[in-house]
Amino acid sequence: MLLCTKIRLQVSEADAEALEFMQGKCRGLYNWWVMRLRDGEPWPGWAAAKLSLQASKDHDPDVRQVYGKLLHEVYFRLDKAMAAFFRRVKAGETPGFPRVRPRHAFFTLCYPALYIKVKGDILRLPTGGGGASGVPKQYPTIAARLTEPAPTDYREVAISRDARGHYYASFVSEQPDAPTPPDSEVLAFDLGIKTLATGVDTQGRIFHIGGFKGGGWYNHQLDKIRSKRDTCQKKSRRYIHLSATYQRVSEQKRNKHTDCLHKASSLIAYRLVARTVVIGDLSQRQMVTKAHHEKQKKNKRLHRAVFNDWGLYRFGQMLDYKCVHAGKELQRLDERYTSKDCSVCGNRQDMPLWKRTYRCGNCGLVMDRDENSAVNILQRFLARLGPHTSLA
Ligand SMILES: [Zn+2]
Repeated sequence: MLLCTKIRLQVSEADAEALEFMQGKCRGLYNWWVMRLRDGEPWPGWAAAKLSLQASKDHDPDVRQVYGKLLHEVYFRLDKAMAAFFRRVKAGETPGFPRVRPRHAFFTLCYPALYIKVKGDILRLPTGGGGASGVPKQYPTIAARLTEPAPTDYREVAISRDARGHYYASFVSEQPDAPTPPDSEVLAFDLGIKTLATGVDTQGRIFHIGGFKGGGWYNHQLDKIRSKRDTCQKKSRRYIHLSATYQRVSEQKRNKHTDCLHKASSLIAYRLVARTVVIGDLSQRQMVTKAHHEKQKKNKRLHRAVFNDWGLYRFGQMLDYKCVHAGKELQRLDERYTSKDCSVCGNRQDMPLWKRTYRCGNCGLVMDRDENSAVNILQRFLARLGPHTSLA
């Protein structure tokens, strides 16, 4: 499968300027086309659009200082965006027309592997002009330092920048998938907020995989910084300083959260032996009902926790590719009522989110809420397989 390795770059000030210049010109070209398309001009396809590059260069001679392959990539990207648009129109979905890229966002630069060089920890990115073009080179070839060793066999490299001004190189490379493990065990997980994943396998073993713990502490810090900032005059030195601090702290929080999700999903995909992993289908999940809404108004912490469950969606995505990579099968199952039903007698009772223990009113089962759901998911999955399977 194709995997992407994102590595932080150390870039000198002059090279950063060259990157900013090139992304600005690429974005300009992209936006110019988007505006024309928005005015009703038909998209001629990338090959025809690419032929107009010379005219664009004549119009703005600075474009010659941008490496040609990057400009070509702009047409390919537009082509993909238009194709996606028409695919959605055809499927009857509500399509979003390709958008003008804002100036504050970095326009990702895509280099095909053939045109860049990695030597030791130095990544060389060519710029435009010079050579046969006859235009004097304004920016020399960029030499960025990689903070980690790069993968050896890659197809393309995308250069991006985050909100804090750090540059990254993303290497896309083909990685072999692991063979499917011989074991036929099934492992079912209930995904939650308090414990990220609670699992049970066909042998009845129970797994608890904790989630990101520091959220509350970070939220508190962020609230403090924000309230301090809001007492300052806008655009004042202190305001700008506090804004930068806010950004830094929220990036730390985000990074820690991501790290947690990666560790947990790697544990499930690479360390646990089960061949099939079953999780509830998150798209069916309605976390916030009216009753919750009322309760959460009083309880800010819970409110936040529930609304922050986008982390679970990302967790599902990570599991998706990691399971493929590890040769495992990931199944999604309708998880309706899995937290309300008793896993022993099937009795259904209301389980508001704050009830952490399942106490069955019918058979007297007392079980952790998430464990009960995980058992239900596993049972539902096994039932779906039918009676003629090798699974016990
Ligand atoms: Zn029961």
